[in-house]
Amino acid sequence: MMAAADVVVVGGGVVGMTAAVTLQQRGARVTVLSADDPADTVSTVAAAVWYPTHTDEDPRVLDWARQTYTKLSRQAGDGVPGAVDRPTRMLLREPYVGPPWWAPACADLLAEPAAPPYTALLRFTAPAVEMTPYLAWLRQRLAAGATVRISSAYWGKRGRRQVAASCLR
Ligand SMILES: Cc1cc2nc3c(=O)[nH]c(=O)nc-3n(C[C@H](O)[C@H](O)[C@H](O)COP(=O)(O)OP(=O)(O)OC[C@H]3O[C@@H](n4cnc5c(N)ncnc54)[C@H](O)[C@@H]3O)c2cc1C
Repeated sequence: MMAAADVVVVGGGVVGMTAAVTLQQRGARVTVLSADDPADTVSTVAAAVWYPTHTDEDPRVLDWARQTYTKLSRQAGDGVPGAVDRPTRMLLREPYVGPPWWAPACADLLAEPAAPPYTALLRFTAPAVEMTPYLAWLRQRLAAGATVRISSAYWGKRGRRQVAASCLR
């Protein structure tokens, strides 16, 4: 029997757990359903470095990047387990035509000349996350008021129907 919940979050990786913690902070009763233990998700093995990649310039992405940067840097300053600010260097090969589109999201980006074959060196602070302690911290924050259920049965048809019914409460 599933405990009463205002919201059912499907997925116990960093996205699901972060959503669950945020919803709980806003007063919702949350149940997280995950086919895997949070410690066994893709999130656990991520390098988890802040850096907009595999995406083109987009105002929405810039806004998400800025919010993520601010939040992760604040968490690093607050001593959240796994959250760190890393001095980062990026060497460019393509002609340098000015700061990258994501520079406004970043606190301290500086461009310097670089020796060939490179065209420029970007220096900036990149928030990064050690995922094992970070996921454990998220789970600990949830522990007080939320339920985390781990079962491969959610992959099945019957499981999916049960989850959908819970979401409609
Ligand atoms: C090697 C590597 C390096 C990476 N480096 C970076 C990086 O530097 N920076 C960066 O931003 N990103 C990086 N990523 C990407 C990052 O790991 C992912 O974007 C992120 O972990 C996705 O999180 P998630 O919570 O959405 O998914 P996941 O961590 O995959 O979690 C998915 C969850 O959903 C559950 N689930 C799925 N289907 C069902 C179902 N039907 N029923 C119930 N539960 C279900 C799973 O059990 C799991 O709990 C990297 C990834 C890899 C593999």
